[in-house]
Amino acid sequence: MQDPDCIFCKIVNGAIPSHKVFEDKDIFVFHDIRPVAPVHLLMIPKEHKATMYDVTDDDAPALGRIMALAGKLARDEGADDGFRLIVNTGRVGLQEVQHVHVHVIGGPDSLGPMIPRKSN
Ligand code: AMP
Ligand code: ZN
Repeated sequence: MQDPDCIFCKIVNGAIPSHKVFEDKDIFVFHDIRPVAPVHLLMIPKEHKATMYDVTDDDAPALGRIMALAGKLARDEGADDGFRLIVNTGRVGLQEVQHVHVHVIGGPDSLGPMIPRKSN
């Protein structure tokens, strides 16, 4: 299922252009339009699911495929000394696009702490 109003569904069906890195029957991978590091990919299931709250066992093949391919694609893009996978979810996670996506972020330099610790 796709959502006709979803920007990432439109990327999957080609209505909005993207810099595609990989595609198979279950997933689509493209460059983030506002990269935060030299390597910044977005890996998405083709099936529209708004958030990680909405995924079910039916989505496991696509999400598993994303996990299985992340390292290879990161390395192919030049992140060969480490990277980070991030799935922002909901209001607390500051999710902007309501179609599940896994950020693949890496590059030559350390990314720093995952989330700054609040001082106590
Ligand atoms: P999030 O905050 O996790 O929902 O991240 C959404 C990401 O989608 C951001 O990093 C945006 O830069 C990225 N983004 C939004 N629109 C596009 C687009 N048309 N092509 C590529 N990346 C996009
Ligand atoms: Zn969508």
